[in-house]
Amino acid sequence: MSLRPLDIDPSHCLIAGKWVPSASGQKLPLVNPSDGTVLCEIARGNAEDIDRAVQAARTAFDGPWGRSTAVERGRILQKIGVLVLENIDALAELEALDVGKPLTQARADVVALARYMEFYAGAVDKLHGQTIPYLDGYTVYTLREPHGVTAHIVPWNYPMQIIGRSVGAALATGNAAVLKPAEEACLTALAFGELARRAGLPDGALNVVSGLGAEAGAALTSHAGVNHISFTGSVGTGRLIQQSAARHLVPVTLELGGKSPQLVFNDANIDAALPFLVNAGIQNAGQTCSASSRILVQRGVYDEVVTKMAERYVALRAGPSMADLAVGPLVSMRQKEIVDGFLAKGTDLHMVAQGTVITDAPKGGAYVAPTLFEGVSPDHILAQDEIFGPVQVIIPFEDEAEALAIANGTAYGLVASVWSRDGARQMRLAKALRSGQVFLNNYGAGGGVELPFGGSGLSGHGREKGFEALYGFTSLKTVAAFHG
Ligand code: NAD
Repeated sequence: MSLRPLDIDPSHCLIAGKWVPSASGQKLPLVNPSDGTVLCEIARGNAEDIDRAVQAARTAFDGPWGRSTAVERGRILQKIGVLVLENIDALAELEALDVGKPLTQARADVVALARYMEFYAGAVDKLHGQTIPYLDGYTVYTLREPHGVTAHIVPWNYPMQIIGRSVGAALATGNAAVLKPAEEACLTALAFGELARRAGLPDGALNVVSGLGAEAGAALTSHAGVNHISFTGSVGTGRLIQQSAARHLVPVTLELGGKSPQLVFNDANIDAALPFLVNAGIQNAGQTCSASSRILVQRGVYDEVVTKMAERYVALRAGPSMADLAVGPLVSMRQKEIVDGFLAKGTDLHMVAQGTVITDAPKGGAYVAPTLFEGVSPDHILAQDEIFGPVQVIIPFEDEAEALAIANGTAYGLVASVWSRDGARQMRLAKALRSGQVFLNNYGAGGGVELPFGGSGLSGHGREKGFEALYGFTSLKTVAAFHG
């Protein structure tokens, strides 16, 4: 299989500007989760490939790329964004086939990837240091400098968006990057590498090595030549990566998912809230770090919300990505087993509604019918653990204090929203919710690339997206000049 229209071989890695087979020559099958067939083979990169990629990045960083100006880097990123949009059909199809994402959602991810390029292209020449008033005879100022070689471990759920927000910001600030996409879905990562090359990114400034997490991923995060690690994925792997980074004391950004609540009060505009309550749970088949898997509803509107959400759920259809229904398959049979395992733990709960897997969905696909539970106790495992599938629980509450206690009552803290017309309540909760983002009378704000994103607790630490990412991918130097 060739990545149309880019004509690159997906069983190769991009190292030092060249498409090369893995050092071992070994490959891994890439499965289409809509029907279980093998799409193509990808390279099984190992420690040797990672070492070559890190060295190539170092050479680029020590060379013209490391000396490039913000304006020059911005122009290249701008051009990557143009190429991304010119290839929107091909990229969306690759993502849909690879991840199982319905085509419309995959197209939105292509647009988001282009927006990241545009945003960081336009922002990076506005990244200023400070001048600091100090003792008589001194002039003190700060410089924002790239870390050097940055490692990017990307998961399978939103490859393009996560590459955009982390690799985009790293390149904009002058780092040289090594990208290890997920073994379940990496075609758009490879395509992105090729588009960046065609946009004029110097050899080695971006290297893409596919392979297994425990092999290529672990080799990258423990490599002594890496100066910063950006990881999005599971809590368990996040822990391993932070331990591995401790060896060389490398800064790490961890984005590890959540159990994000939406709080619906008696005075909320229920009909305005409804599409957000449901879509935030089933988008990308619930495989979204910022998915809203807990819906907290005040008693006065509880029955109305349950009834109206249930009506929407029974209308949901799951099927192959190319059928472009509301819900696609999960990314893999392994992920389906994880989600089915959670559903098996919910047999004591009241399942109020379920969507349908269409009858002609291929038998080998990783389908899970969207499922809604109500009357769930806040300490139930389905209300505490990240499920990463199209499953939501509705939890009743009496008053604001109880809603806040339930909302803050998990180990995560990524996203929360409040649905209420009471401005004072909105302000109180915006402060009190333990969450990296809080939305008032909306959820996600359209996913804007401009909005800093990240969590606390098991959701991880550090911020990506927006201007904050430019701070994260640079380190600050203070210069104090004594001139008398
Ligand atoms: P994972 O964290 O193991 O994989 C994510 C990325 O990390 C992949 O690129 C993988 O190759 C890499 N990786 C794995 N082990 C590694 C290691 N030892 N060193 C370096 N890199 C390594 O996640 P998973 O196993 O694919 O999914 C399991 C669960 O993780 C899901 O059910 C979900 O709950 C969660 N998850 C969260 C996100 C998110 O966006 N926060 C994304 C994917 C998965």
